[in-house]
Amino acid sequence: MTGFAKDFPILAQKVYGKRLVYLDNAATTQKPNSVIDTISDFYKTDYSNIHRGVHYLSERSSERYEKTREKVSDFIGARNSSEVTFTAGTTDAINQVARSLEPSLRGNEVLVTGVEHHSNIVPWQMAEAKLKAIPMDEDCNLLLDSVDITDKTKLVAISHVSNVLGSVNDIKEITEIAKDHDVPVLVDAAQSIQHLPLDVKDIDCDFLVASGHKMYASTGAGVLYTNDRFSDLMPAKGGGGMVDKVSLEKTTYQEPPLRYEAGTPHIAGIISMGASIDYMQKIGLEKIEKHENDVYSYARDRLLEMDNVTVYGNTTRMCGSISFNLDQVHHYDVGLMMDKMGVAVRTGHHCAQPLMESLTIEGTVRASFALYNTKEDVDRLIEGIEKVEMMYT
Ligand code: PMP
Repeated sequence: MTGFAKDFPILAQKVYGKRLVYLDNAATTQKPNSVIDTISDFYKTDYSNIHRGVHYLSERSSERYEKTREKVSDFIGARNSSEVTFTAGTTDAINQVARSLEPSLRGNEVLVTGVEHHSNIVPWQMAEAKLKAIPMDEDCNLLLDSVDITDKTKLVAISHVSNVLGSVNDIKEITEIAKDHDVPVLVDAAQSIQHLPLDVKDIDCDFLVASGHKMYASTGAGVLYTNDRFSDLMPAKGGGGMVDKVSLEKTTYQEPPLRYEAGTPHIAGIISMGASIDYMQKIGLEKIEKHENDVYSYARDRLLEMDNVTVYGNTTRMCGSISFNLDQVHHYDVGLMMDKMGVAVRTGHHCAQPLMESLTIEGTVRASFALYNTKEDVDRLIEGIEKVEMMYT
């Protein structure tokens, strides 16, 4: 194994006798040794419930949990760690915002894009908001001159990077437009936090959400950044840990972030996000971005060179995922055959049915990249596609 892959023990294995090429990183990333060891060591040495205990282990767990909050806060450029709430993931975070904003959303509009993941669609509909999408051109570039914000628009909720196409949306410009109309902005950073440096101050968003498991950390752990302008939202969840005083008549809440963290969280999972941030920072975010860009552009170029392959989306900036179809072969069959060649890709609608509808397709084959992927992995992908094509012609 070459490059960063050597830090990821799962990648050392062979599947069906071939070195595993893992290209399903938009679904979830693999974990480096340092993250696995952090989780294991935590359970061996410090594990206890947090915030509520006076004993040694509880203090150690609480301290590690709060240190992780500071690390995440610095990583995304928050002004204060109180703006960082831990959640179970992106979906959980968006649902919490939807629930908290529900009174203002009900009967009004949320502006999204046509490439959103279902997680950034369904919660708003459940809050009885109507969705409007920013128009895009045939290459899936957003047409920001056509953004239509009205009195009914109560939130702009957009993905930073599409999990299907890899298109990078200009969230800073969208935020500027929204701010001109005094409309808050939520950024779904599930597909950007692991690829691009983020700074919530610079983006100037009100909410930013992400999942630990897509940035080399555990599942069941995620981030909800809430600008301190929203420090007194109605909490979406009630229970232990988030209260100031409870009586049978009335409850008062803590200040953020605890206000938004009811119940016992996935402590080890959250702490693993600190380890994954350490891992990425040790390599260097710029180095990661450059390496991933090289591999990503190489993959796109090779796919675009192929006859009988359609690649979807062609925006000014792209990273992470590439979606394509073979003219003759159903995406599902491509995925199955690639698997037998040791190449893990994902097939289907990728939880983005509205995008599939606008592309007038049912699904795609998606190759999605992480820092451990290399140009050799891309060669294996292309070789696999060529073999699939040969079998069908
Ligand atoms: N938004 C985007 C852009 C995603 O790619 C995903 C995961 N595929 C989600 C939201 C949901 O993330 P999770 O399943 O970790 O909650």
